[in-house]
Amino acid sequence: MDSKQYIELEETYSAHNYHPLDVVIDRAEGVWVYDVDGNKYLDCLSAYSAVNQGHCHPKIMQAAVAQMQRVTLTSRAFRNDQMGPFLKELCELTGYEMALPMNSGAEAVETAVKAVRKWGYATKGVPDGQAEIIVCNGNFHGRTTTIVGFSSEEAYREQFGPFTPGFVRVPYGDPVALEAAITPNTVGFMLEPIQGEGGVVMPPAGYLYDAATICARHNVLLIADEIQTGLGRTGKLFASEHEGVRPDVMIIGKALSGGFYPVSAVLTDKEVLGLFKPGDHGSTFGGNPLGSAIGRAALQVIVDEELVARSRDLGEYFKGRLARIESAVIKEVRGKGLFIGVELTVPARPFCESLRERGILCKETHETVIRFAPPLVITKDEIDWALGHIEAVLMAEKVFA
Ligand SMILES: *Cc1c(COP(=O)(O)O)cnc(C)c1O
Repeated sequence: MDSKQYIELEETYSAHNYHPLDVVIDRAEGVWVYDVDGNKYLDCLSAYSAVNQGHCHPKIMQAAVAQMQRVTLTSRAFRNDQMGPFLKELCELTGYEMALPMNSGAEAVETAVKAVRKWGYATKGVPDGQAEIIVCNGNFHGRTTTIVGFSSEEAYREQFGPFTPGFVRVPYGDPVALEAAITPNTVGFMLEPIQGEGGVVMPPAGYLYDAATICARHNVLLIADEIQTGLGRTGKLFASEHEGVRPDVMIIGKALSGGFYPVSAVLTDKEVLGLFKPGDHGSTFGGNPLGSAIGRAALQVIVDEELVARSRDLGEYFKGRLARIESAVIKEVRGKGLFIGVELTVPARPFCESLRERGILCKETHETVIRFAPPLVITKDEIDWALGHIEAVLMAEKVFA
């Protein structure tokens, strides 16, 4: 079958809940993906930063295959020999005391919401049923009904209500608005240190630090959703570190498995996750031995291959070169590490289509932004190769005007 036929199958049998580029991938290795028609592309999206370690990383693959041959799922009705070591390694790497493993990112966000509410009732003393969590305009935390309910994006919410109460939205990047929104019933403030799906939106410098200070002052838990920004993507293990902030609650996913399997987690100290009792929360697959073995290998690769430093150094270089492209359609180049957004004055989709024809895969976000987030194993030579094409496409702006 050729790509046309695969696309037809998808269009016929799949709900049309995405608008993908029409590339049908059947193979990938490192930063490169290959389509069914024999074309080769540099992946500049990394599955929304899930494959920071590169596609089909051999060490993660080895761990996955070995674990598959032993045991894949026990459910948490029983224990397994992978979850404990995985969470120990995860906590030691990140500096938190406890972790609760889940599968998708949205599930981890839901888990954080439950944990923070529980802390609010059990520890802060908020009256039952009154807990409030503050979130930001432009947020993206996943797609469950509770999560889209507190989105500011009408397309995410339309016709999906009624929604879960208990969430308050404030402008992103405005500490004064945050402090003004806090009431005695506020239990948490959740944010992305850089808004990925919102268009690689960076808050003003000092915002995260101010938010952490305000939260501490009012006994409100700071919850960082680092599902996309975490695990090295922005040139630090966590983007919060750029401002020296250690959130009370850390949510991770995506690259926690290097793209092999859905693995997510909530990290806190004992005062929060320590409140859960048997029956309070669960997941059939969460913490399963296959996901745990994969997570262990995925973390090990980040450490062994110094992917955090790579992201910092190569990201600086990539962003610097992009910023020097003198194209009339570029409004702004921004980002940290290998998490870069190029905001255009015009729709970004045609540029993504054009880059795809030259062998580079990226996806527009928020209409006018091209996100460049290649696997962190990318080399400088590969970035240089990509830059040649990116510059050519952005300088040919008349084609799209
Ligand atoms: C991708 C993402 C999520 C949701 O993760 P899923 O695995 O798709 O459920 C949540 N928050 C952020 C910041 C994300 O980038």
